[in-house]
Amino acid sequence: MSTLARHTLTHPEGRRLLVYGELRGGLDVSPPPAPAAALHQRRDLLTGAWVAVSPARNTRPQTGADVPAPPVPGAGADDGAVAGAVAGCPLCPGGPEVPFPYEAAVFENRFPTFAASPPPPPQGMDLVAPSGGRCEVVLYTDAHVGSLATLGPEQVCRVVAVWRDRSLELWSDTRHAYVLVFENRGEAVGATLSHPHGQIYAFDRMPPLTGQRVEAVCEYRDRFRRCVSCEVVARDDAAPARTVAENASFTVAVPFAARWPYEVHVRARRHGAARLGDLSPLEQRDLAAALAEVVARYDGLFGFPLPYMMVASESPSDGKGRPLADWHLAFEFLPPHRSETKLKVRASVETATGLFINDTLPEASAASLAAVVYSPPAWGNVEVPKVVPDVPAKELR
Ligand SMILES: [Zn+2]
Ligand SMILES: [Zn+2]
Repeated sequence: MSTLARHTLTHPEGRRLLVYGELRGGLDVSPPPAPAAALHQRRDLLTGAWVAVSPARNTRPQTGADVPAPPVPGAGADDGAVAGAVAGCPLCPGGPEVPFPYEAAVFENRFPTFAASPPPPPQGMDLVAPSGGRCEVVLYTDAHVGSLATLGPEQVCRVVAVWRDRSLELWSDTRHAYVLVFENRGEAVGATLSHPHGQIYAFDRMPPLTGQRVEAVCEYRDRFRRCVSCEVVARDDAAPARTVAENASFTVAVPFAARWPYEVHVRARRHGAARLGDLSPLEQRDLAAALAEVVARYDGLFGFPLPYMMVASESPSDGKGRPLADWHLAFEFLPPHRSETKLKVRASVETATGLFINDTLPEASAASLAAVVYSPPAWGNVEVPKVVPDVPAKELR
């Protein structure tokens, strides 16, 4: 199996930078001072739900990845800019986060919602708690233009390797109750940067909707004595009208009760594949191919890169440190468009009650996506490399 080296560096103010692949530089720029941290969580007495408060985020630049802009290439003879970097993109090489060319990288968010060492919550208040956890930004490539659809098999496999590495490490920290790999793409979902990137949050308590899903999984097991996720896979397979793409290891379908018009779920077929770390080498490769195909079909649907939220649904712990047996890993795509020109707005009913109203028929959306002409790239013998963590990088700092 091929390998992918991981180098751990640290920004002067303590944030980690993980560089995957060849290390081509060190951290020699001084970033601006860290913003005043007032992050904490508050519990709503009426719902019991926790709300994360992070006022520093409101002053952050509108970049989608919460980092300042890099030097402009050509602005000075020794300005630190890297050839190929796009002016104003803080994720391009030469920027404040990764000052050198890279293959893939992960850095801790400059304006986090959750932090490994959070400040204490405000004094003199009850119903508050520290915001423990992690907020990381995942850079898929140092090239400014691209997507999971255009990166090419080796690069998408490298992204899957990075997700797996982060997932394994973050789930192994017993302070974390949930880990969410996600990507916001497009201004419609708040990401103004086109540079290919995603994010990962680790939460110190179970998010509300995740808790609901755990209850549903357990209730189904109690009532029917079988796995609800296996049942969903079987029902997707029995409904070709909702199938978007063929894949040996994953179903790729518009879900039966889709909330968003062009919602697509990529769900592991195998019982026991509950998290990224559970996937076999073949399943990892099939995941990369499925995600690339979904994004390519989205981009072909209306002829422009369709904005979406993509969230990995990994199993929470069963309370004994293991994933729930009846939870199959899924990647869920939630695009806000309901037509070429119209966006679905999550308005009063959906926001206030949680009841979604889908303006489209899931089978019709699936047919539109399945009809997009798709020519897969040559996956050949491409495989997801195994990450070899923590190659010492001290000599380069
Ligand atoms: Zn860029
Ligand atoms: Zn199952």
